Amino acid sequence: MDALRERLRQRAVAGLTRSRRVTDGAQGAEQTVDGRRMLVFCSNDYLGLAADPRLVDAVRRGVSRYGVGSGAAHLICGHSHAHHALEEELAEFTGRERALLFSTGYMANLGVLGALLGRTDCLFEDRLNHASLLDGGLLARAPMKRYPHGDVAGLAGLLGAAEGQHKLIATDGVFSMDGDKAPLADLAAVAAEHAAMLMVDDAHGIGVLGPQGRGSVAAAGLDQTQVPILMGTLGKALGTAGAFVAGPEELIEALIQFARPYIYTTAMPAAIAEATRTSLQIAAEEEWRRERLFGLVQRFRQGARRIGLELLPSETPIQPILVGDSGVATSWAEALQRQGILLAAIRPPTVPKGGSRLRVTLSATHSPAQVEALLEVLAETAPATSA
Ligand SMILES: *Cc1c(COP(=O)(O)O)cnc(C)c1O
Repeated sequence: MDALRERLRQRAVAGLTRSRRVTDGAQGAEQTVDGRRMLVFCSNDYLGLAADPRLVDAVRRGVSRYGVGSGAAHLICGHSHAHHALEEELAEFTGRERALLFSTGYMANLGVLGALLGRTDCLFEDRLNHASLLDGGLLARAPMKRYPHGDVAGLAGLLGAAEGQHKLIATDGVFSMDGDKAPLADLAAVAAEHAAMLMVDDAHGIGVLGPQGRGSVAAAGLDQTQVPILMGTLGKALGTAGAFVAGPEELIEALIQFARPYIYTTAMPAAIAEATRTSLQIAAEEEWRRERLFGLVQRFRQGARRIGLELLPSETPIQPILVGDSGVATSWAEALQRQGILLAAIRPPTVPKGGSRLRVTLSATHSPAQVEALLEVLAETAPATSA
């Protein structure tokens, strides 16, 4: 415990202690946070489906048919009709042969990398990939090479020089802290050239990008041969919880047999699968949600430029404002909170030192007036160095 106390102290001295807030009520543009009404710009509920009444009804329907718990792992007796139907619908939605549900996106990434790679293989990852892709590589015990962010030529160099029986390139489709998109077409070309498998984690692309929200990979026009491993999460734009991997028959069968985070865990509640079937249908049909969302992204970017904020080149609902110093980012976020606006200050170790930022995420539930309110308070509270 002394050692832990010392580590905690060091983190506090560095001003990097993280803490939780207690929210109440349904997800939405406004939420009760620590007992106070706040305007929220940090949720991943991009399409505003997390509290949609049709999803709530679907959960109720699911609970009355299946009960609450799924009772066991998928391979024992936890794999319900609802799970199975959702897998078929996700395969169809993503244009892949088959799809497999995981309880979380974090576990899906551990599962894929652990099942497909071993000590004699080689894994290539973008420097800014999500923590779960990095941890998956560690668990697989495969040698890992990280290429500079979005640098396809750099990756090609590493691939050319690498040994390893199987090579796998893993990338976020949309980078979670910067909001930019991976150069998927170029990555697919380099993967084909070097006989490497390409895996895309589309946690922030599914539901948001591409025709009918089919994701970054569909937006880039890449099929199952070019991107054989597609991972998506259900807890962001789709508004529920869990994740899936979609791809060729052999991939999915191999995951069922070998992916330990699939095999040794309880299946997500069937009612959540039932609700996700509904949200998948809504996400595909209600194009107005994406139109509204991207209208808000444009409004925010124009307004932020007008008041002189430093934005990153992101075209997605993830809109970071670069601050630099972690202390400045924290005090800016606190000033915003005092004005009733909640957004996340992202600091090391999540981003590199000197890369601290305020991360704004937009949702179809925001109104244009709420985005204007955000811009107004940002302008009022901006630290001298940033405005
Ligand atoms: C959120 C996220 C995950 C993890 O998904 P969970 O379902 O929340 O565990 C994985 N990858 C990326 C890029 C993410 O943003």
